[in-house]
Amino acid sequence: MKYYSTNKQSPFVDFKEATIKGQANDKGLYFPQSIPILNQEWLDNIEDYSNEEIAFRVIKPYTGNTIQEEKLYEIVKETVNFPIPLVKVDESAYTLELFHGPTLAFKDVGARFMSRCLGYFVKDRSTKVTVLVATSGDTGGAVANGFYDVDGVEVVILYPSGKVSPVQEKQLTALGKNIQALEVQGTFDDCQAMVKTAFADKDVTDKLFLTSANSINVARWLPQQFYYFFAWKQWKNKDNPPVISVPSGNFGNICAGILAMESGLPVKHFIAACNINDIVTDYLQTQQLIPRAALPTLSNAMDVGNPSNFSRILEIFNNQFPDLQKRMSSFTITDEETRKTIRQVYDNYNYLLDPHGAVGYLSLKRYLADHPAAQGIFLETAHPVKFPDAVEKETGYSIPIPASVRDIMAAEKKSTVIKPNYDLLKDFLLS
Ligand SMILES: *Cc1c(COP(=O)(O)O)cnc(C)c1O
Repeated sequence: MKYYSTNKQSPFVDFKEATIKGQANDKGLYFPQSIPILNQEWLDNIEDYSNEEIAFRVIKPYTGNTIQEEKLYEIVKETVNFPIPLVKVDESAYTLELFHGPTLAFKDVGARFMSRCLGYFVKDRSTKVTVLVATSGDTGGAVANGFYDVDGVEVVILYPSGKVSPVQEKQLTALGKNIQALEVQGTFDDCQAMVKTAFADKDVTDKLFLTSANSINVARWLPQQFYYFFAWKQWKNKDNPPVISVPSGNFGNICAGILAMESGLPVKHFIAACNINDIVTDYLQTQQLIPRAALPTLSNAMDVGNPSNFSRILEIFNNQFPDLQKRMSSFTITDEETRKTIRQVYDNYNYLLDPHGAVGYLSLKRYLADHPAAQGIFLETAHPVKFPDAVEKETGYSIPIPASVRDIMAAEKKSTVIKPNYDLLKDFLLS
């Protein structure tokens, strides 16, 4: 499998090079040259396979011959070694709980896969690789956890000060060792812009071998397809495939789902569930993608004003707007609606949503209101304990703290505070 850049000005690369580089030199995103088509019989009998077998089957064509089969199997086995259950919430809505990994958010799958691949690819290199990443909340923790103590890899994480939850902050600042946290006095978009500038700055790239662990990296983006296959494995009504609602920010997760659908996975329709940072919702109305500054919301991991993976979605549909419109809808959910949804779903169905899941649930319900024969799945992308303020206030329920969180909350925060100014990041990287 080869990958091309969506800007079409960089040479083709294999999975190894795409993973090590992160982004193409022409600033495009790497995209697979062809989308593998999965065997129909295998999809019909998916219940017969373990999650690790499914993951291996799905990812193998993408890695080609860059990773030995036994090694790849070991990597996917470690990547998906926690439960990903499909849980019924009400008559028409099921949730796929993606928060049972070590940092309690779906990003664990991508971060665990990528860190293991990168560790494998760089093990014979003489120079270190520096993973530079901006986070709106959950990426930082997942990347820190995935890369912690991986030989030959240094990690620098930029996060917006005061805009991530206490659990999120501890998960990315408390580990130490090869993980460094920069607390930026600005927004996620500031962090992302600083990271992008660093990748384009020759002074930096001449001295450091930089790569990204955001979902622009194929090794983080592609394994996110696994969830959608695990959902299908647990879906009982195979004659009526699910509508899937994905709480979306940078659009990596939903884009992986759409890719899975293009490989043959039965999905009736996708819903991009957005908070008020809804430039894609607008796009589906107007066909104009107009980036805006991100506004802070309760579902902070989705506070993105210029979603980088959207260009990959357009690539899947060859920029044909009508094809995209047939396959994907989008809804905007306000914080007030998010709160009300958390409260009502707890009161009526005794299910505890986190703010991201609440955006996913309500978007699904809006779609189903106009499509009564359909049934759907929304992704629960984070554990409610990561957002205790909103969840406990609405439900009156005090969420028991999982052991992993208790340990990290007791650890000391270590961050370097900087202003949202690229030169400060540059000094930090070069020092
Ligand atoms: C990152 C994240 C999202 C958004 O996912 P994208 O792939 O960026 O669209 C949604 N919910 C949670 C909890 C997240 O951490």
